[in-house]
Amino acid sequence: MRIGIDFDDTLNDYRGLLRKLVQERFGKELKKGETLASTIGEDNSQALVTEILETDLSLQLEPRPDSVGVLRRLIADNHEIIILTARYDREVLFIDQWLNSRDLTANVYPTNREDKGPIARELELTAHLDDMLAQINTFTPDIATVPVLIAGGWMPTSIAGGSGGSTKIADHVRSVDDWKEFESLLQTLS
Ligand SMILES: [Mg+2]
Repeated sequence: MRIGIDFDDTLNDYRGLLRKLVQERFGKELKKGETLASTIGEDNSQALVTEILETDLSLQLEPRPDSVGVLRRLIADNHEIIILTARYDREVLFIDQWLNSRDLTANVYPTNREDKGPIARELELTAHLDDMLAQINTFTPDIATVPVLIAGGWMPTSIAGGSGGSTKIADHVRSVDDWKEFESLLQTLS
């Protein structure tokens, strides 16, 4: 299978790094449901996000629990992994390094904030895992790729892209709580 995986907050713990940096640099707590801008101000927020996405600060992003183990098993089973991220081209420089340092072989495809559904169709992905409902909702039922929503769902910054607004999960979308559940789901698709 060819499998799409979102990067920020799906493969890594983006919010965890934001929380840590907000505490270290600004002495503030990034509370669940709040935005980064309302916590540290618009200018600070933009500068911090740019730094995480465009510098080697990306390497400090920790993996989400079980993500690396599951991906290693999928790769060992000859599945092809594509990191389908809404990041801009200039924001993916350190993703390869992040993957290489964990012995993960995967191609990185930045959508430059474009909708992922139509791109997943072109890439002929069997499934795509993402934490953002706005992106999952771009996988319309006519697209063969199975959209899988991983629990998370709150993004304190707007780097996700996709169609904003909708909070309804469509019937053809699959939901998982964590990476182990995603691994089990994939076994039912093969
Ligand atoms: Mg994400």
